[in-house]
Amino acid sequence: MKIVFAPWRYRYILESAGKGRCFICDPVGEDRDMLIYSTDHSVVIANRYPYTRGHVLIAPRAHVGNIEELSVEEAVDLYRTLQCVLRAVDAVLRPHYYSIGVNMGRAAGAGLEDHVHIHVIPRWCNELPLEGYDDGALMEDMRRVVGALRRSAGDLCGEPETPNFTDKT
Ligand SMILES: [Zn+2]
Repeated sequence: MKIVFAPWRYRYILESAGKGRCFICDPVGEDRDMLIYSTDHSVVIANRYPYTRGHVLIAPRAHVGNIEELSVEEAVDLYRTLQCVLRAVDAVLRPHYYSIGVNMGRAAGAGLEDHVHIHVIPRWCNELPLEGYDDGALMEDMRRVVGALRRSAGDLCGEPETPNFTDKT
């Protein structure tokens, strides 16, 4: 597997350090625009500081640090949601392969404490690094991808089960 060098992520890790806020449980500002899909037990959020286009996070709604703390129902829902996300990303971005990993705990270096989540990173043979983008172009492209993934997930996996973050006031 190729290692993706993503220096723009350092800002995110620094911004997140020590704030004690969980952006999955308590999304604010642009985090709230990143929601792609939700079920009764899981949420899908675009990574604001992606390794590649279409880099998304899937997390249980429950604020737990480890997979083994999930109920069977929550764990099954998380995996079903992963299947849904893969179908949606396939349809929109047609990656050649994926890097998928579970981050658990602070030591995993996620910049996100104590809320277990799955990274889904679409990959392409001969992919171009995202560092060629400036911040504005990256954000604009991300909004387009998020919109397309939302529609794709809704079409392929059914309407989101529960109100999403953008419904919050
Ligand atoms: Zn949380």
